[in-house]
Amino acid sequence: MSDGPPETDPGAGPRPAPDAVRVARFLDRTTAEGPGERSAIWVQGCTIRCAGCFNPHLFGTRGGTLIDPADLVARVTEAGTSGVTLLGGEPFEQPAGLAAVAAGIQAAGLTVMTFTGYEHAVLRTRASDGDRAVAALLDHTDLLVAGPFRQDLVDRERPWLGSTNQEFLHLTDRLRNVSGPDRLEVTVTASGDVSVNGWADTDALDALLAGLPTRRGR
Ligand code: SF4
Repeated sequence: MSDGPPETDPGAGPRPAPDAVRVARFLDRTTAEGPGERSAIWVQGCTIRCAGCFNPHLFGTRGGTLIDPADLVARVTEAGTSGVTLLGGEPFEQPAGLAAVAAGIQAAGLTVMTFTGYEHAVLRTRASDGDRAVAALLDHTDLLVAGPFRQDLVDRERPWLGSTNQEFLHLTDRLRNVSGPDRLEVTVTASGDVSVNGWADTDALDALLAGLPTRRGR
């Protein structure tokens, strides 16, 4: 039995910064959440609540752990990956802290991919209306995946996307011409806990994991 990629609980600092991020899960290394080998941060909380969402356990804002942006940047750079993927939950419902994370990651020469359930035009309007945190998170995202999940429009062609209405937005030149297969990663810890992340057809996933105590990542 493999332990899978290293994963650790997001530990809390003694006094989180005002822009601390409420993190549901941190994965040091994954090849299922964007191009190349990346770290992944799932945030806790999403008010969009798409029908058929893969992560309904991340809707509420009471779970997760508050972590300072600087600590998250350090975790990613120490992991030695090519960058970070921000997903959730809804990253643009915690834009200030995640903008700080994204800025730190880019300053270290790494890339940022952000998933959001909001349409890009909605986020652009919020930014132009003066929401500096939203503007900053957009400014520090290289590749944005935007739009709500539609379970009636499941995307079986493009990697990483859940439904055909969702868009890739290349906000910089740094993650252009990327591609990769959809993957499902299953992590089994020494104590027998099973976590999954990545993308797979819901019926196939349910059949695979039937009877196992699991934690889903996307
Ligand atoms: S798919 Fe994304 S945006 Fe939609 S409810 Fe789930 S976490 Fe929120």
